[in-house]
Amino acid sequence: MNCPKCASLTVKLNFDGVGVDNCAGCHGIFFDEFDKEQLQKMKGAEAIDFGDPEVGRRFNGVDRIDCPRCGSRMIPMVDFDQPHSWFEHCTLCGGMFFDAGEFKDLKHHTLVDFFKYLLVKERRPPRPREFRAPSAKEKNQTMMKGAMKAGTAPCRLQV
Ligand SMILES: [Zn+2]
Ligand SMILES: [Zn+2]
Repeated sequence: MNCPKCASLTVKLNFDGVGVDNCAGCHGIFFDEFDKEQLQKMKGAEAIDFGDPEVGRRFNGVDRIDCPRCGSRMIPMVDFDQPHSWFEHCTLCGGMFFDAGEFKDLKHHTLVDFFKYLLVKERRPPRPREFRAPSAKEKNQTMMKGAMKAGTAPCRLQV
C-alpha cells in the first residue's frame, strides 16, 4: 500500500495482533476501522507511532487525500474527546490516517485524562489543621523575638 500523503510504501506493523500500516517515508499511520480504538486502549501501543512529530506536523497540512484502502476521498476529522487531535477519516471503509506523532499524542492525553478522572474520584475534603500547643522552648523563643523587636533586652528578675 502507498501512503496517501507522501506516496512512499507503507510497512505492516503488528501490535498484539492488531495490524497497522506505517509509512516508511513520513511515518504516518493508517488504521483500519476499529483498530485505532482498540490500540488506543492497549498499554504500550504508542510504540507503533515512532515517527518524528515535526515531520507529522508538516504533513498535517496535507488533508485532501484518498483512502489508501478503498480509494474514496478522506475527510479531516477531530477526535470527539480530544478536540486538538485531527486525523483523516474514510467514511466508506472506516479507515483513519494519523500523521507521525498524532497517535502517541492521543494516547498520552487519553492516559492523562484517565489519571485526572482518578484524581477527581479520589479527592477528599481537606483534613482540619492539627493544633499543637507550643513547647516551653518555643514559647521562650517567641518572647525573645518580641522583646528584640521592641528594643528591650529580656532581663532576669533581680532579687
Ligand atoms: Zn507517508
Ligand atoms: Zn477507505
